[in-house]
Amino acid sequence: MRVDIQGKTRVLGIIGWPVAHSLSPLMQNAACIELGLDYVYVPFPVAPGDLPKAVEGLRALGVAGFNVTIPHKEAIIGLLDELSEEARLIGAVNTVKRDGDRLIGHNTDITGLIKSLQDDLGFDVKGSRVVLLGAGGAARAALVGLCQSGAASVTVANRTPAKGECLVAGFRSVFTGVNLALCTLDILKGDRCLKDVDLLINTTAVGLNGTNFTDLDLAPMAPAARVYDMVYNPALTPLLVEARKHSLRSANGAGMLAAQGEAAFTIWTGCKPPNGLMKSRLLAALDGQDMLDNGVYSK
Ligand code: NAP
Repeated sequence: MRVDIQGKTRVLGIIGWPVAHSLSPLMQNAACIELGLDYVYVPFPVAPGDLPKAVEGLRALGVAGFNVTIPHKEAIIGLLDELSEEARLIGAVNTVKRDGDRLIGHNTDITGLIKSLQDDLGFDVKGSRVVLLGAGGAARAALVGLCQSGAASVTVANRTPAKGECLVAGFRSVFTGVNLALCTLDILKGDRCLKDVDLLINTTAVGLNGTNFTDLDLAPMAPAARVYDMVYNPALTPLLVEARKHSLRSANGAGMLAAQGEAAFTIWTGCKPPNGLMKSRLLAALDGQDMLDNGVYSK
């Protein structure tokens, strides 16, 4: 427990609803303490209707920066003074930095995903063929990150096809060098197209609360193909169990969560957090709980 907060201590935090499950305070405070930086990171529960007041309050209080999680990632955009290129492309903000009187929105989910793919799967996105399950906010971040990192093709499979079409249509003119395509979730039922996929990423909430895709069969995937599940609680989701069954290298989203936190920390403080510290704290905390209450994802 921190007992060294003084008059000059700078405040960082996270806004979301709910926010009590957030593991970010644990990760961020560990890095501040380890580096001897005089910051403290606190959770701020902000109900959806209170977002404008909360952002004005954070401005007035001189908070140095904060993370943004569900349900505010998109709604906060109109309340900020500037957006990074990534945040603008994704249309969502997960990190805000105060710069003088200005609040600048960033999105570190891209950095988080690409770093985790490298660190946890040894996967180089350049030239790869990827299938993305889902078309929500996490899928947008993944699609932008994969395209920026030189993927050859990204195929989106979403439960509601119209949302998948909308996602792909919105980026075709932005990433002209990437083959952006659509398929259905039936691809997971042992479809032969899976043999040409280098990486399968789940960006949906399936896997939380014991949920699963129906008739999951990854047998056609090539032995060198990888499987990544953004869900990290439980650590071994049904998709990852299926990947293991076929000896496919796989990882859950804990590495992404830690890496997006590392990137946010650097944006705020200008310092790199100690190597592996955030991830080890996160994994230790996740080890102690089987499932976030109600399966709610919270940064
Ligand atoms: P979102 O914007 O609400 O999108 C949810 C997506 O999941 C949609 O594509 C939705 O399909 C799909 N979906 C939900 N239930 C489904 C079901 N039963 N069967 C098939 N598809 C289903 O949420 P999000 O922000 O993208 O987050 C999605 C997941 O990614 C969450 O589990 C979150 O925890 C995880 N995530 C992890 C990290 C990390 O750092 N590891 C970061 C971001 C997100 P429809 O369009 O058909 O509704």
